Amino acid sequence: MSNITNLLHSIPVDPLTGAIAVPIYQTSTFVQDAPGVNKGYDYARTNNPTRETLEKIVAGLEAGSTGIAFSSGLAAIDAVLKLLQSGDEIIAVDDIYGGAFRLFDKVYKKFGINVTYVDTSDVQNILDAITPATKLIWLETPTNPTLKISDIGAIAKIAKAHHILFAVDNTFGTPVLQQPLGLGADIVIHSATKYLGGHSDLIAGLVITKDPALGADIKFYQNACGAILSPFDSFLLIRGIETVHLRVRQHCANAKEIALFLEQHPLVDKVFYPGLSSHPHHDIAKKQAKGFGGIVSFTLKNDTEAAAQQFVTATKYFKLAESLGGVKSLLCHPASMTHKSIPTEKRRAAGVADSLIRLSVGLEEPEDLLSDLAHAFHQIQSAAVAIFN
Ligand SMILES: *Cc1c(COP(=O)(O)O)cnc(C)c1O
Repeated sequence: MSNITNLLHSIPVDPLTGAIAVPIYQTSTFVQDAPGVNKGYDYARTNNPTRETLEKIVAGLEAGSTGIAFSSGLAAIDAVLKLLQSGDEIIAVDDIYGGAFRLFDKVYKKFGINVTYVDTSDVQNILDAITPATKLIWLETPTNPTLKISDIGAIAKIAKAHHILFAVDNTFGTPVLQQPLGLGADIVIHSATKYLGGHSDLIAGLVITKDPALGADIKFYQNACGAILSPFDSFLLIRGIETVHLRVRQHCANAKEIALFLEQHPLVDKVFYPGLSSHPHHDIAKKQAKGFGGIVSFTLKNDTEAAAQQFVTATKYFKLAESLGGVKSLLCHPASMTHKSIPTEKRRAAGVADSLIRLSVGLEEPEDLLSDLAHAFHQIQSAAVAIFN
């Protein structure tokens, strides 16, 4: 696992001025002494010193050889998909991030790339889905919002044996808790918008590869297609990464307290948190990760959208919003927000019940978060009593 001292000191002091913070090179081009004779930079889409510093830092953070920074998580996913050709197939986790599903289904399908979605928490499902055309396995673990865990090491072995590229979207896991490249994956993707940025103030994406040649291929697409991260956002992301270890540790501690509170609450039906011993994949989570993350989902005994909507509008500190991983707590109701476009039966079958609520547990004092939730439960209980009477 990446060491915090190494991380902080992998962020270089500016050789020109001694600035301890990474300078923002807000420039589009670089003056050349003669054609092709330059100081390592010629045009800022191809390379920019601020972005380059970020890319080196994240390569180290994920224990890879190459980091490549994009203007969003989806742009990062898009660059990986460009490794494929028409006729190739992908096997993807069925509980996939909605934006990745849309990219696969509405953009890449028409170019002849087909995706088979399977429950990757049982590796047999992956083995059963492999065909001679399978070129990529696409994993998220934990998934969103039901926090299913898949065995990265076991899937890496299958991918290797069948000469299939293996990519892990490590947005929820974070490199602080799990490092897929060390477990045998070829590619790690991040929506750095979430925990790595950490302050809900930027949109950014990352790809990190273990193999330098694969990294060079993706770097080629970064330049050829152009979805680069700006110098200012690169700076912001470096600033976020400087505290990611501390933040994630506290996110995990707060989330654990909340999961335990929810588990014993009389109005709660199910709690989804990989850190609970009741979680079906708790053992794998414990084996492959150093902690269980900051996302907790739960369902209500009164499994209705109405009850959930009442709950998500009754909290004070948990703000109602999509996204996750910031310092302030957020909550959302997937059935009427992120998962609204999925047909009801399909959504329910995937474990996203009508009343499921997802919490992104922030860095407030845990007692304040607990009393915020207790208050919201009280509100929905009083409303239920009022209807009953
Ligand atoms: C948010 C998210 C993405 C997309 O990232 P953007 O930065 O919003 O483009 C991809 N994967 C996961 C798991 C996410 O949570």
